[in-house]
Amino acid sequence: MTTMIKANDPSLTSWIKVDKNSDFPIQNLPFGIFKTQSSSPRIGVAIGDYVLDLAILNKLGFLDNLKIDNAVFTNQYLNDFIALGKSTTSNVRERISHLLDINTPELRDNKEAQAKVLQYISNVQMQMPVKVGDYTDFYSSIDHATNIGTMIRDPKNALMSNWKHLPVGYHGRASSIIVSGTDFHRPKGQSLPADQVGKPAEEQQPVFGPCRLLDFELETAFIIGKGTHLGERVSTDQAEDHVFGMVLFNDWSARDIQTWEYVPLGPFLSKNFASTVSPWVVTMDALEPFRVAGYKQDPKVLPYLEYAGDKNIDIHLDVFIQPENGEETSVSHSNYKFMYWTIEQQLAHHTVNGCNINIGDMMGSGTISGPTPDSYGSMMEITWRGTKPVTLKDGSERKFINDNDTVIMRGYCEKAGIRIGFGEAKGKVLPAI
Ligand code: CA
Repeated sequence: MTTMIKANDPSLTSWIKVDKNSDFPIQNLPFGIFKTQSSSPRIGVAIGDYVLDLAILNKLGFLDNLKIDNAVFTNQYLNDFIALGKSTTSNVRERISHLLDINTPELRDNKEAQAKVLQYISNVQMQMPVKVGDYTDFYSSIDHATNIGTMIRDPKNALMSNWKHLPVGYHGRASSIIVSGTDFHRPKGQSLPADQVGKPAEEQQPVFGPCRLLDFELETAFIIGKGTHLGERVSTDQAEDHVFGMVLFNDWSARDIQTWEYVPLGPFLSKNFASTVSPWVVTMDALEPFRVAGYKQDPKVLPYLEYAGDKNIDIHLDVFIQPENGEETSVSHSNYKFMYWTIEQQLAHHTVNGCNINIGDMMGSGTISGPTPDSYGSMMEITWRGTKPVTLKDGSERKFINDNDTVIMRGYCEKAGIRIGFGEAKGKVLPAI
């Protein structure tokens, strides 16, 4: 039994006006790092169209009961804040919820303080929320793994024999994880021209040039909130205590480079040139009301992967493509609940050999595809390797992502009239240089 988190109470409303379609009602209160033209990076909490400046809020004494050093808030990453521990960070969220509550006069009736602690989101620049030490990417959506296996191997044996026994994953690259709004150039690399596929190895001649099959991968990532020591295991029961929150994650992929390079050790340069994250970290506390039952796992998993309770999460996920100067076209509507493996299982598996984890580590879900073509999480699947192009609102066709296209991912949870969202993970592909 989980105890009701006060800040999640659906009956709460704020004295700050929040649109009903806003991602950031009082029941969300995600944490992020922002800066303005006149202020250095610091921690903020999103509420409606505003960012609440925690550094100033603390300085003005509104968080005095929590006794947190202000250096934690005037920081370019959330890592030190997260390191305070879940009971403290949960208490900060509870305190902010109370301060923003329509029935609490403290800040509501103090216009002078409001002017200092509130900024329009549109006036701030969001930064990378955490310093990512290590990045791991899983492959935990059964529909995605089945689609890819069907396309590149054999429809009858789409899933490899290990797939239902362990959450398959690989170690990615942390240095190229970028925050939403950061543009990047189309990667260049080696690939094998289509007419050479299947030729004897000694006759194959790869070419070098701009990626021709640039793709997005619709993912979420969870952020480690409590580290472990080398040799320590995290059980599925303990896992939640080690997770601070979640973000949207676009794991950009160069399919032509990937196909040529991935044998035998897995993806390398096809995946490490850019991954785009949303700037607001939605806490596991805020996601609690949206838990749903996990995927029914058959065959039965090994004992260390067993878990109890509703551990999946109902998160609607959308992908849009926006051509240069054009309108957004929706190309996918998926849901996190389609995941086969839960966060608890991923973390238990990741640490079962004693591999240590650190605060700020990011763990990607893997592409999240649903069971129907309109819910596939990559262009590779949506256009079935380019054989079924999608038509955008401007009439142009896409098999993969073109230069100057912007890919936008959004996500939200909705239940009993409460809607909390992730904001967006947005990135524009500039021409190769
Ligand atoms: Ca991926």
